[in-house]
Amino acid sequence: MNTGSNTEHIALSPILHHWVTGLLSNHTALLDLINNEGSPVNIHCLQPFTENLEKYRSVLKKYDLRHRIYFARKANKCLEFAQQSFASGECVDTASYNELKQCLDTGIEPRQLILTAAIKTRDVLTLAVKNKVTVVLDNDDEFELLKEVTTELQTPVTVNIRLGGFYFKGKKLHSRFGFSLKQAFALILKIHHSDMELNYSGLHFHLNGYSVAERAAAIEQCVELIDQLKEKNIPTHSLDIGGGFLVNYLEEKSQWQTFFHELKRASLGKRPPITYRNDALGMVKIGGELYGEPSVYPYYNNISKEKFLEGILQTPSEKYGKPIYALIKEQNLELRMEPGRSLLDQAGITVARVAFRKKDSEGNLLAGLEMNRTQLRSSSADFLLDPIHIPRQENAHTDRESCYGFLVGGYCLEQELILKRKIRFDQFPEIGDLIVFPNTAGYMMHFFESEAHLFPLAKNVFVQP
Ligand SMILES: *Cc1c(COP(=O)(O)O)cnc(C)c1O
Repeated sequence: MNTGSNTEHIALSPILHHWVTGLLSNHTALLDLINNEGSPVNIHCLQPFTENLEKYRSVLKKYDLRHRIYFARKANKCLEFAQQSFASGECVDTASYNELKQCLDTGIEPRQLILTAAIKTRDVLTLAVKNKVTVVLDNDDEFELLKEVTTELQTPVTVNIRLGGFYFKGKKLHSRFGFSLKQAFALILKIHHSDMELNYSGLHFHLNGYSVAERAAAIEQCVELIDQLKEKNIPTHSLDIGGGFLVNYLEEKSQWQTFFHELKRASLGKRPPITYRNDALGMVKIGGELYGEPSVYPYYNNISKEKFLEGILQTPSEKYGKPIYALIKEQNLELRMEPGRSLLDQAGITVARVAFRKKDSEGNLLAGLEMNRTQLRSSSADFLLDPIHIPRQENAHTDRESCYGFLVGGYCLEQELILKRKIRFDQFPEIGDLIVFPNTAGYMMHFFESEAHLFPLAKNVFVQP
């Protein structure tokens, strides 16, 4: 491969579920849909969601673990996924008043809901207590407020305690969330021995990042705490290991490796840029050297979803001399998890219409899309999957040569790139053509969407496979 060539395409081929390939093969239907719903439109399908749930369940079944799966609905705003989780016999993790209220109003059983919101107002706690939804406590002020609310309402509530500051390889894992194990021990003792309306039932954590080993270490430390509580005759019913289960978005590892290799070369000026204005996606160049790593989601990985879960369960606990799954089983714990992104893997795409073509001051081709970058955005520095170009008219042009360019959006900022990567178009983009972004249901389409310039939010539709 001539990696130095200007025209060679650094592909990042996305994995596509068959509902997506089916939909994309019908250009007319897709064009009609966007004409009816406006651009961009988020198209969803529930089938992959149920398939993903099933994959987790089969692992939990294999290890014979009592369990509950709480879909973390903050990863996508559509109520349909929360409803589907409930319809499949599972649960929903809610992170705000409206998320919880919607779930209650639609008839999801309160005992299949949990409240983990980072900010818990009196209103949301009142709603949870009145409906007997388990509350995950993160700090003392929350605890005090919840005590007030339950006393006022004369209604008991079940609480789980969120833990943070676990140790991994001798170092403390930083977190803004949760109690230390020591604080939690004292708090649980206090709850247990008082006549408060709070009932302690389990421990909870949600770790940043995607480390199997860190999660196994956290579980081990939770079990230590559970043992200490047992000595005080305080039983623990459940252990919630949160979310953060990896998703693999890409077909080929080699493409992923090539991309980073070429990004580094481009950043050092050793090849033409592959990102807009040679953006290094979070790496820093100082005096001819590159520092740091690109701050992007690991879009390619080989331990996603159920394999990630199984990886945690199979990790040996050195302290207890047995694998994590055996530890959980022996403690007779209900294992809870809160996957968001991973349950939404393959469950949605975003489609936008091309509004204009132009060249920027450096001569780069820009395709203007009727969307803005908050409609395809996560904390990752770029969404590293090739978009799919759907021409409005097949063979509209005799000029079918591929070309390269960038996708820009509707916010009036120089930085308003939909993707930072340079994109290859199989044929020159025409006005009214569609650009499809695959696998956007988890965070990408909703988490950061805003209405600046008074642009309306994108419509959300559901299709059958
Ligand atoms: C965000 C969040 C999740 C879901 O994380 P994913 O990475 O989407 O799986 C689960 N639990 C808590 C407490 C969260 O904040």
